Amino acid sequence: MTQGTSETEGTSEAERTPQAPRIPHWIDGRHTPGTSGRTAPVYNPATGVVSAQVELASADEVNDAVVKAVAASKDWRHASLSVRSAVLFAFRELLHERTDELAAIITAEHGKVLSDAAGEVARGLENVEFATGLANLLKGGFSEQAASGVDVYSIRQPLGVVAGITPFNFPVMVPLWMCATAIACGNAFILKPSEKDPSASLYLAQMWKDAGLPDGVFTVVQGDKNAVDALLTHPDVAAVSFVGSTPIARYIYETGTAHGKRVQALGGAKNHALVLPDADVEMAADAVVSAAYGAAGERCMALSVAVAVGDVADPLVDAIAARLPKLTIGDGTHPDTDMGPLITAAHRDRVAGYIGAGAQQGATLVVDGRTEDVPSEGFFLGTTLLDHVTPEMTVYTDEIFGPVLCVVRVETYEQGLALINDNPYANGTAIFTRDGGAARAFQLDVEVGMVGINVPIPVPVAYYSFGGWKASLFGDAHMYGAEGMSFYTRGKVVTARWPDPATSTVDLGFPRTR
Ligand code: NAD
Repeated sequence: MTQGTSETEGTSEAERTPQAPRIPHWIDGRHTPGTSGRTAPVYNPATGVVSAQVELASADEVNDAVVKAVAASKDWRHASLSVRSAVLFAFRELLHERTDELAAIITAEHGKVLSDAAGEVARGLENVEFATGLANLLKGGFSEQAASGVDVYSIRQPLGVVAGITPFNFPVMVPLWMCATAIACGNAFILKPSEKDPSASLYLAQMWKDAGLPDGVFTVVQGDKNAVDALLTHPDVAAVSFVGSTPIARYIYETGTAHGKRVQALGGAKNHALVLPDADVEMAADAVVSAAYGAAGERCMALSVAVAVGDVADPLVDAIAARLPKLTIGDGTHPDTDMGPLITAAHRDRVAGYIGAGAQQGATLVVDGRTEDVPSEGFFLGTTLLDHVTPEMTVYTDEIFGPVLCVVRVETYEQGLALINDNPYANGTAIFTRDGGAARAFQLDVEVGMVGINVPIPVPVAYYSFGGWKASLFGDAHMYGAEGMSFYTRGKVVTARWPDPATSTVDLGFPRTR
């Protein structure tokens, strides 16, 4: 996909079933029907059937949402810290109570299995729990007697209206990475969710309202590029958080900053597992299979390359291949399903195209997901394992975002490290070894933002911050945690002297502290 287009624009007339229910916006605390006349189909990926049409906002609708959010932000920034944290505590309770409902909504539009959807909610909940500590997190510093009779202190204040633009693959967790922190800091937050699975955003909006958040502080504008561009160029949107693919992340960063906004834009990934000869092969295979094929590989922290060092390669490939036929592929609502469908038919076909290209370019097709017996309805694809992949092959150079694992064989640890450091993406990586010295050297030298040591998906807990390096992140601030609090606030420093008539005098010299 190029940065100027989005898949919604290619929707055929036959898919625009006007009788399907509409998924509206959420503006000023209520469902708001769209007025642009543009919609996009939302599918159940497990059946391939269009379940709804989502509204696609025009620039005018986005402007209306921003105007309401600006008004709401003026009151919300003045809400006391304890009022704000009470809302976050209430929201946390509702999120916990309604996890199953939310997971069902995720699965119906994304396709991931219910337990995985519930796991996504649980990780998002941790961000809400972190944000409940806002009164402590927003404390500034105070220096008494910085000069004679002068005190200096720092405070952090909200930005006003901030926007979040999110991908299809985590329709709850990624919005929670952003909105919990942004709202805790006293901002109004406008979410532009993925148009592929937009319903969870409205459920979150209702929960914020039920938790006591004032109308207009949390807003949802449904839409595609038009809505995104309207947010990126709107003068009253102070900051934009983005998570999605690298070409769009780069575009968001360049356009948003050119319009004077603070921007953090997280992009795509090609995450490598480095498996050393001393690793426990069975445990490494379990970990790699879980991280490569979970959520059908549609995770930004999915492992898509296993770098096998030395003679671990043959047993590792055998151990991975032995596990794949045991995975049950099907509808994510069935309790015994391990892996659901891909998000759209177009994406499934794109992933299948990469498998063919990999084989043509010389990789060994150990397991071919295209020939696996999967349900014929819906957007299913089996699991693929490609061995003897080399760095020039498109299966290696491109983010595939599907259930495809590439094995690259190297002779030494140094070669494996160099391969990882040469990759333009740098989101996550993991080393599998029993050698503490090797693991520590890897942690020191690998040029990647999030590192696992025998941990295949090293998503930082909520009190650290999430983000990759290089083409996986544009901007300076990682998401959530302390860096999130900093991103959603501006620092102000106050220098104060209380008047003492005895010392008052005219002095045209530059103020000195000593
Ligand atoms: P995407 O880039 O296609 O879409 C992300 C968002 O951008 C959506 O809200 C979409 O509506 C909007 N968008 C799409 N095209 C646009 C355009 N031309 N102009 C303006 N806005 C546009 O990504 P996706 O397919 O929804 O999600 C998958 C991608 O997200 C993968 O590349 C994955 O690695 C990445 N991702 C990264 C992280 C991370 O933390 N780094 C996390 C999750 C997903």
